[in-house]
Amino acid sequence: MEVVHDLGRWRDSAQATRARGRVVGLVPTMGALHEGHLALVHAARERGDVVFLTIFVNPRQFGDAADLARYPRTLEADQALAESVGVDVLVVPSLDEMWPDYPRDTMTSVHVTGLGDVLEGEGRPGHFAGVASVVAKLFAVTGPCRAYFGEKDYQQVAVVRQMVRDLALPVDVVDVPVVRDADGLALSSRNGRLSAHGRVQALALSRAIASAARRSAPASVLRAAMRAELARAELEVAYAEIVDPLTLQPLDDGARGAARALVAGVVEGVRLIDNGPVTLGQEE
Ligand code: AMP
Repeated sequence: MEVVHDLGRWRDSAQATRARGRVVGLVPTMGALHEGHLALVHAARERGDVVFLTIFVNPRQFGDAADLARYPRTLEADQALAESVGVDVLVVPSLDEMWPDYPRDTMTSVHVTGLGDVLEGEGRPGHFAGVASVVAKLFAVTGPCRAYFGEKDYQQVAVVRQMVRDLALPVDVVDVPVVRDADGLALSSRNGRLSAHGRVQALALSRAIASAARRSAPASVLRAAMRAELARAELEVAYAEIVDPLTLQPLDDGARGAARALVAGVVEGVRLIDNGPVTLGQEE
């Protein structure tokens, strides 16, 4: 496994991969790797891509300085794990290379309006501009590639897809289903900050999604089922919504067919999210 820190070598390595007739499979992460991240690597390898996994804790997508300071950084373990699953190039750019002016706010910013302003964007102003800006830079340095994103961050994939379409970026975005622990909790680098009790509380999120996915009913019925599930646990609910799977706009009871359920909550100061596909139908 090649380990690359500077943007020039990363760009050259991707270019050399394409010159050999291979596809670059880009897997952007913030590290603290777990099976959720590895599922993206497996998906890229299954397609025969040469896998470039990036690790960069992007300060511009954290609104809360304490959250950024507490974000887990486990580079040595990440490197061993990346190697064990067949990552070809591990890209670990420095903050200085990615954002030379940081913390000065003189950057070009990519803001995907609409999609980036609802749900997570509402609770975390500026978050998706930080995400879109860093992902645009990862794409710019990598060049034409397939890029793998987890549905765990459903809104993030929607924002990235829209950006790719709007800017005609030479990137094929592939999404990968949510990877969960045996008890249903969606894997997240932040789960390690939960106590045993907090983890039990956090399970209400995946139970809420499951309660909406279990049956076909109007949006308000599924929303109420999710909220009832969340109310049983003592967690601070940020939102529990049934939305259009493409526009992420809330749906009313006239809507039928495929939709998406998304929830977010705060447990022991840790913000957690989950989502899943649901079907809207007649009242049972
Ligand atoms: P992060 O390091 O949290 O920024 O995540 C990097 C990538 O891994 C993103 O595309 C995430 O959506 C994806 N990812 C994180 N957790 C999971 C999971 N439990 N299942 C699927 N993908 C995930």
